[in-house]
This record gives sequence, structure tokens and C-alpha cells, in this order.
Amino acid sequence: MNRWIGSTGDGVFSVDEWTRYGDELRRPLMVADGLRKANTVAVVGAGLSGLCVAYRIAVKRPDVQVELLEKSDRCGGTIETWNQGEWVCDVAVNATRAHPSFWRLVDDLGLQTQFKPSNPAASTRWIHTGGRRRKLSPWSVLRQGPLKLMRGVRASRQGKKSVAETMPIANVADAMTLGIVNDVSRNVDADFLMPSMTRFGDEPPIKRSKVKRKMVQTYPLFTPQKGATASLSGGMQTLVTALVSALEALDNVRISFGVDITTPEALAKEQNQPLSSIVWCAPLRRKTTQFTHLNVYAVGFTEADSRSVPVGYGTLIPDADAPISGVLHESDVHGSPRAPEGHRLFRLMSPTTRGATDEDVKRSLRTYLCEAEPVVFEKIGERSIPSYPPGYMASLEVSNSKFTRAGWFYSGVSITHVVAEAERIADVF
Ligand SMILES: Cc1cc2nc3c(=O)[nH]c(=O)nc-3n(C[C@H](O)[C@H](O)[C@H](O)COP(=O)(O)OP(=O)(O)OC[C@H]3O[C@@H](n4cnc5c(N)ncnc54)[C@H](O)[C@@H]3O)c2cc1C
Repeated sequence: MNRWIGSTGDGVFSVDEWTRYGDELRRPLMVADGLRKANTVAVVGAGLSGLCVAYRIAVKRPDVQVELLEKSDRCGGTIETWNQGEWVCDVAVNATRAHPSFWRLVDDLGLQTQFKPSNPAASTRWIHTGGRRRKLSPWSVLRQGPLKLMRGVRASRQGKKSVAETMPIANVADAMTLGIVNDVSRNVDADFLMPSMTRFGDEPPIKRSKVKRKMVQTYPLFTPQKGATASLSGGMQTLVTALVSALEALDNVRISFGVDITTPEALAKEQNQPLSSIVWCAPLRRKTTQFTHLNVYAVGFTEADSRSVPVGYGTLIPDADAPISGVLHESDVHGSPRAPEGHRLFRLMSPTTRGATDEDVKRSLRTYLCEAEPVVFEKIGERSIPSYPPGYMASLEVSNSKFTRAGWFYSGVSITHVVAEAERIADVF
């Protein structure tokens, strides 16, 4: 079984399923056949994926015992929010794009009052390349070569293409992939990053525009504006804290820390459980070279000093000799405060391949933000992002899965994917 598991059988999804999950259904669901029969489920890794899988299964099936096993001493994995007084900055994901799965999670966790849409006045994105900054918009992309773009998209439908081949406008493609997976576009699988554009997976039984219209009607809380994001007061840590509290309140869940499981097979043997009862939400047989690495900085200015920086979403910097690949205008974007009154907060990303020191990054503020001395400049963390080379999505082994795999190490990079996937996994019970 399993070509993506649809209620109508063999990879065919109903209109209701498309309405619930949208294009997430194009992504493989890597579920073991025997999972639905398990009395005890072991979830490995307490990042957002493991937390959501444990939560969705445990709530749906109070008769199933859920063991959540985490290597480190904390939950959240990649997600973490840095605080210093009134400065609040996410080290990794800071907001969600619109997807009803995420809205449902927020609603179920009782985070309604803390979940706010992004500031519509801060939607402008810029690209800084060759010493010039310009606005990024669908029009500016089309203007650079509509025919080239159309040919690229058409070719991408043969599958296994890179984003650079799909979108042959080098700087824009690189800016986009750097902003999402911290890698240049020739190294990134187009089927993985934009399956709806490359038409990876199955097509809905009705027009895509109709599916979208139906989806829009299902958002609990508020309906997001087109292209808008939403975030949580206090940063993404608020979501992790709420998930952990919800799990701790459930009688059928146990969370253990400091447990470094080597393989699903070793865990099954140790626990004397079938391999099919394991949900693996951690990396597996991924070498360090199959990740890209980046340093993350929080930078604060007074409003007066940063007046020359327009309000917006942020700037992407594809030039490989620049110390940073992007600047996010954190305090402009979020609906909840990220900086003390009269101040602005920015977040900077510096891929380690660029070899920049903290000093290089600090010096680059004059080029990418403003001349003034920042009131806060701090490296707040390091992160590693899995790489997804061309052909990656097509190579995922989905049939005869002996154990279940979930999270961003497998079939999707975003938190909306991770959250929707957890609901889809619980649906098989
Ligand atoms: C800088 C940055 C910015 C991002 N921005 C966005 C964004 O704006 N929007 C968006 O949608 N997404 C964004 N993401 C992606 C998002 O963070 C991920 O999709 C999500 O956090 C992945 O969660 P996960 O649970 O799959 O993996 P992880 O968070 O990596 O969790 C894996 C967990 O498994 C544990 N573990 C590892 N090995 C073992 C083992 N052997 N045994 C037990 N436990 C183990 C780890 O300690 C960790 O807790 C961003 C990521 C980064 C790095």
C-alpha cells in the first residue's frame, strides 16, 4: 500500500482531502503499512514534526500509547526563540505561510489570541545583487524573460529538474532557494521545492482554482490575505511550549530526553516492538555534507537611526561574495512586538560557505541596512538545513515502507508541510 494513501484508494484523493490538505497531497506520505495496527507508537525526534505526530495520534487514539524520544534535552529541534529583554527573535522559522493545517493546529492548542497575521505594509521583498537593490515581484521576474520562464516551467514537468533549470533567471532563482533552503538553485530539486509548478504527484479531481476557493473557506480563526503570513506572540517557541503542555496533559504520552536512537531497527529490537510502530522524525543516514549550514544574527537599531531602511519583509542577497544571504525585517513583519518601543529588529543569515566572520557580518550592515551603530548585534545561533538535490523527490522510497518517516528530512521543508503531514499520518488510524 501507499502511493500517498488516499481514502478512495491507490493515490486518488477525494475533493474533501484536497480541500483539507491542498498541494501537500502531492508530497509522498511515507507511512508503514502496519502503523495503523500499533498499540504503542514510538516517535523519534521532538522537533515540530515529532511533537505534532505525537499530538495528533495521541488525541485521536487515547487507547494508543505514544512514546516521544528526543536526543537532546529540549523539545522544538530547529525551532528556538532568542530573547533579550524586549527583543524577541526566532533563530529559525519565524512565521507560517497560509495553510489551513497550521490554523487548525493553532486553534486546537488554544493559541487563538496569540496568533496574528503579518503586517500587510511589510510585504515588499528586495533582491540585492551587483551592488544594487531592487524590488522583487512577479512582474519583475516575468520582465526578465517570460519565454525563458515558460520553457523552464514546461521542461520541469518532465521531473527531476533543478530550480535553476525550472526558473532560468539565475539571480532570482538563487535568491529564492537561498531564502528557503540556504542553497543555490542549481543544487535544489524543483519537484521538492515547488511540486505544484512541476506537477509532481497527483492532480486534483476538480480545477485547482476551485480547490483553492474551497480551502479558503476552511480556515478557523481568520482568513489570511493572499500572500500573507502569520506568526505567534513570543515567537515560534510559543507553539512548541503549547504542544509540549498539551502532550504532558495526555495520559497516553510519555516524553523522554537524552535518548539517542541509532536506527529504527535498533529501537524496534530494544523495545521488542514491530518496526512498523516507529515514526522516525529525525535525520537518518544523512551525512554532514548533505546539509548546508548557516549562522544567524539578531541586529537592533533605533527607529531614528534606521529611518533610511524602508519598511518591508526583507532582502535576499544571492552574490556569493557577500557575507550574508538575507536580511529579514523582523519587527516590521510580525503582528506582535519584537523590539522595545522606538526600535527595529532585523535578522541576518550568513551561510558558512561564504566564510564570513562576525566582524565581516557586522561590517556588512552598512551596505545592507544603515550606517549607524546597532544597539544590538548578536549571533543567536547556527542551523543546518537538509539538502535536496535535483531528482531528490522522485527518489523517495514510498512503497513497502517498513517504518514511518516524517518531518523536513524527507518530503517537505516548511512547517506547513510538517504540520499537515502529522494530520495525514493520524488520518491512517
Ligand atoms: C534558519 C531557518 C529558517 C527557517 N524558516 C522557515 C520559515 O520561515 N517557514 C517555514 O515553514 N519553515 C522554515 N524553516 C524550516 C523549519 O524550521 C522546519 O520545517 C521544521 O522546524 C522541521 O521540524 P522537524 O521536526 O522535521 O525537524 P527538527 O526541528 O530538525 O527536529 C528533529 C529532532 O530530532 C532530534 N533527533 C535527531 N536525531 C535523533 C536521534 N537519533 N534520536 C532521537 N532524536 C533525534 C533532534 O534533536 C531534533 O529535536 C526554517 C529553518 C531554518 C533552519
